[in-house]
Amino acid sequence: MAKIRFQALKETFNRTPINIDEPIKRSVLFGENVFNEDTMRQYLTKDAFNGVMSACKLGTKIDRKIADQIAGAMKDWAMSKGVTHYTHWFQPLTGGTAEKHDAFFETIGGGRAVEKFGGSELVQQEPDASSFPNGGIRNTFEARGYTAWDPTSPAFIYGTTLCIPTVFVSYTGEALDYKTPLLRALQAVDKAATKVCNYFDKNVSKVTSSLGWEQEYFLIDKALYASRPDMVLTGRTLLGHAPAKGQQLDDHYFGSIPTRALNFMRDLETECMLLGIPVKTRHNEVAPNQFELAPIYEETNLAVDHNSLIMDVMGRVASRHNFKILFHEKPFAGINGSGKHNNWSLSTDTGINLLAPSKTPKRNLQFLTFFINTIKAINDYEELMRAGIASASNDHRLGANEAPPAIISIFIGEQLTKVLKELENVTKGKLSPEEKTDLKLNVVGKIPEILLDNTDRNRTSPFAFTGNKFEFRAVGSKANCADSMIILNTIVAKQLKEFKKEVDALIKSRGLNKDEAIFNVLREYIKQSKDILFEGNGYGDEWQKEAAKRGLSNNRSTPEALKTKVSQKSISLFNEMEVMNEVELRARYEIKVEEYIMNIQIEARVLGDIALNHVVPTAISYQNLLIKNVKGLKEIFGAEFKKYGNEQLDLITEISTHIEAIGAKVHTMVEARKKCNKIEDEVEKADKYCSEIKPYFDEIRYHCDKLEMMVDDEIWPLTKYREMLFTR
Ligand code: ADP
Ligand code: MG
Repeated sequence: MAKIRFQALKETFNRTPINIDEPIKRSVLFGENVFNEDTMRQYLTKDAFNGVMSACKLGTKIDRKIADQIAGAMKDWAMSKGVTHYTHWFQPLTGGTAEKHDAFFETIGGGRAVEKFGGSELVQQEPDASSFPNGGIRNTFEARGYTAWDPTSPAFIYGTTLCIPTVFVSYTGEALDYKTPLLRALQAVDKAATKVCNYFDKNVSKVTSSLGWEQEYFLIDKALYASRPDMVLTGRTLLGHAPAKGQQLDDHYFGSIPTRALNFMRDLETECMLLGIPVKTRHNEVAPNQFELAPIYEETNLAVDHNSLIMDVMGRVASRHNFKILFHEKPFAGINGSGKHNNWSLSTDTGINLLAPSKTPKRNLQFLTFFINTIKAINDYEELMRAGIASASNDHRLGANEAPPAIISIFIGEQLTKVLKELENVTKGKLSPEEKTDLKLNVVGKIPEILLDNTDRNRTSPFAFTGNKFEFRAVGSKANCADSMIILNTIVAKQLKEFKKEVDALIKSRGLNKDEAIFNVLREYIKQSKDILFEGNGYGDEWQKEAAKRGLSNNRSTPEALKTKVSQKSISLFNEMEVMNEVELRARYEIKVEEYIMNIQIEARVLGDIALNHVVPTAISYQNLLIKNVKGLKEIFGAEFKKYGNEQLDLITEISTHIEAIGAKVHTMVEARKKCNKIEDEVEKADKYCSEIKPYFDEIRYHCDKLEMMVDDEIWPLTKYREMLFTR
């Protein structure tokens, strides 16, 4: 077995980097393979162009004739670039992206054929979707779902395929994907936020949600990855002793990027430029072989598509460079995991970022309105925010071996904390002229455009205000950002809707003017949202106690966290905001619960196999060697042999102890699993998998890792941490 490990190591030692030139002018490549506004202007008739634009901006329908024209133009454009196939490209609930390629090619009788792509193929398709998860939405007799074109996310060419971003829905209209509810949530927040904006500026007619994600990942040599069955099957290492040197020295973070990784990044960035993904930042992360990539932020729907697309592209480019890319949240125990920070803001069609402080008091009151409403929304729905990032793999970060904690809280910095304190003291009801002036000049007017303390941000906060945006840091690196973006935009929409209602009521019933009413409502929100604000160390034990006192949720495991998704509060929220109905919510819940069970089940099986088939036999081989050695010593030294063979004797017994423990624990784990598998109710099964099966993982691992340290390195079958993490 050790042969595989050494073969893999040899392969990596002999690698030479594939040198990729750094494109000097990225701007020239940017969007080259995207059917974007510029290209459309070139290829479309004026009517068709206007049709797409108004569909994007106003959500109007595109009629059939126009769709035909657009399809024809897309085909011409794509074929001019060597494209042969097209596909509807969507994001099913399995995670990842789905595509089914069809050729443009069609026969027309008489033994002839043409290249064809019409409006009907563009607008709607019926992929055989019966094997995508649907949480019981589609009965088997109606196993059909269809994909429908999303004109707000431009078509793009990948390889020789024209990819058309689409939604994926059942025949009865329920969403089977991430995009459908996301589009609905974005619409909800647009509607609610625009109305609130109109208090300040009548010219605002649209509010757009923006997302800038930061993607963390590991790069591991392909051969080393392939030599680890646990990684191949579960995406993470289920065992492996920590290396003597890990990340203690912090020498990787922001250090110079290793050559092989840099060449991968260059190659990737070129692909991204062509695909119109505006990647901008690349750097090393905290752990060895860990990196981060971030684009310039975009409209949320497009940003989510781009994140899903880039994860796919990264996998392919990594493979060209003999790497395997790891998006798992915790591939290595004892070493930092990966996340995906979601930077979020709202902006108007008049060009204002609603979460950016400004120079004028009027604009700052608007800023405070959106700032405080967001805080209130998170305060009221913190548990739902936690539910949105729950997965078996993210559990390893949230509240387990590593921060951020499973408790959602908001960091806003010292300056804004002070501002909120002052606003909390605003008089109830009508304001005196002096108070108005004071507020204008000394509170609202004094918010600096650049918040100094936000440059020194609290990295331990899961939800932090970072100057002109909020940053949700607890999202998993493997996750589709849509989940958290659906929730965030929906709760903010709901909150803004309530705010508008309350302000209007105060104006009407109490005769307050608009500003007075806004101050009055905001004051109450600040009072009601105090529990969610936390400036201290989110990683400390103290915070766990304090948060419990405040009544904040602390759902450490996925089965526990997911339950909120189908609480009455959540069902009414998504219903009211027209983002998801109860059927859709329950289906998603079911899928997540099942996914959790599968993940833990697979990990348990793989761990059992490796422990019994790799680790134990290797330990026995080594033990036999020791036994032979002791026997030899006895032969030579007789009764005196103990003087020379003490260490060996100890090792022999220690190895036996660990082998015994592994055997016993794997055995009881298997029995426990059999019991769990008999449980019919999936929710209960997930709970049991979490409480009865998962705890064995650490115990079995402990003994395996001990053996790794005892057994001769020459025969150890599994590639070690130090070998995987420090290859260049
Ligand atoms: P960090 O210091 O946390 O690494 P940066 O300041 O470099 O973060 O920005 C991280 C991400 O935030 C980038 O993707 C950036 O485009 C995005 N971002 C910046 N401003 C906004 C905004 N107003 N709305 C949404 N995302 C934004
Ligand atoms: Mg960040």
